Amino acid sequence: MNEGKKVQAIQEEILRLKKEKNALILAHNYQIPEIQDLADFVGDSLGLARRAQETDADIIVFCGVVFMAETAKILNPEKKVLIPSLDAGCSLVDSISLEDLRAWKAEHPDAVVVGYVNTSAEIKAECDICVTSSNAVELVRSIPEDREILFLPDMFLGAYVARKTGRKMHIWPGECHVHARLGYHRIRQMQTRYPDAELLVHPECGCSTSCLYYAENGDLGEHVHILSTSGMIRKARETRAKRFLVATEVGILHPLRKAAPDREFVPVDEEAICPYMKKITLENLLTSLREEVYEIDVPENIRTKALKALQAMVSVG
Ligand code: SF4
Repeated sequence: MNEGKKVQAIQEEILRLKKEKNALILAHNYQIPEIQDLADFVGDSLGLARRAQETDADIIVFCGVVFMAETAKILNPEKKVLIPSLDAGCSLVDSISLEDLRAWKAEHPDAVVVGYVNTSAEIKAECDICVTSSNAVELVRSIPEDREILFLPDMFLGAYVARKTGRKMHIWPGECHVHARLGYHRIRQMQTRYPDAELLVHPECGCSTSCLYYAENGDLGEHVHILSTSGMIRKARETRAKRFLVATEVGILHPLRKAAPDREFVPVDEEAICPYMKKITLENLLTSLREEVYEIDVPENIRTKALKALQAMVSVG
């Protein structure tokens, strides 16, 4: 069987099993195109968390990284949540351990703890509020002025939120090491190479939070748009610009090119690939559905605490 036929056979079997088992396939924007095309819904962390809450499917197969699948489980304890590979980690999640956080909290016992969604379930359980990059500013603004704030784990998002809100915060020095390369100098280099292009930044995942910080500072020029995937698609259709630089993980190029084929989308760095996201393949997605592996389990005492922090995140922005 040639490669094309093999892929088609796997896709057909995935769709058959999905129907048979009443499963929902959620895929993050950074998944490979073949998986995005099969999914019931493709989106960012917040969109996927919301979709997971709305479904009446019996099984949720989460094509993303482990902390996202944990979030789906926290919000849907009665559902079976599967992830096709347990190796789909996240360097930002790994930048803070439970011991680190407990020690930090002990130094600031009265602080409100604000955690970016890229954290493990046990870290979320120790946070007061969980945020995404699109609602972090609004949620931090809602904290009373006289309260001290600990912000974790993404230092770029923390610096951006501190500047936007004017709040003094203690910020954990974590970053997404995978995409430290998607930085200011690289963007300026590409803007010089493509002076007619507008810059699109997706405000999600640690790979682009440093761009938020520089954009807010005015360091990236005027034509910078910080938008969700659907916002990017709208912008590409509405503006006269024909070419866009995309400062985000390259997986996002697939939905953009599909939706606006008459525009050119150039990655700021074509090596900006999250290897954790790419641990999910058609083959392990098929195995996941067939054998119902790997099931995500969050202990109830952790889940209920993490749920409180997550509820604000899901309800705002
Ligand atoms: S892109 Fe960075 S922050 Fe996002 S999942 Fe990959 S390692 Fe984590």
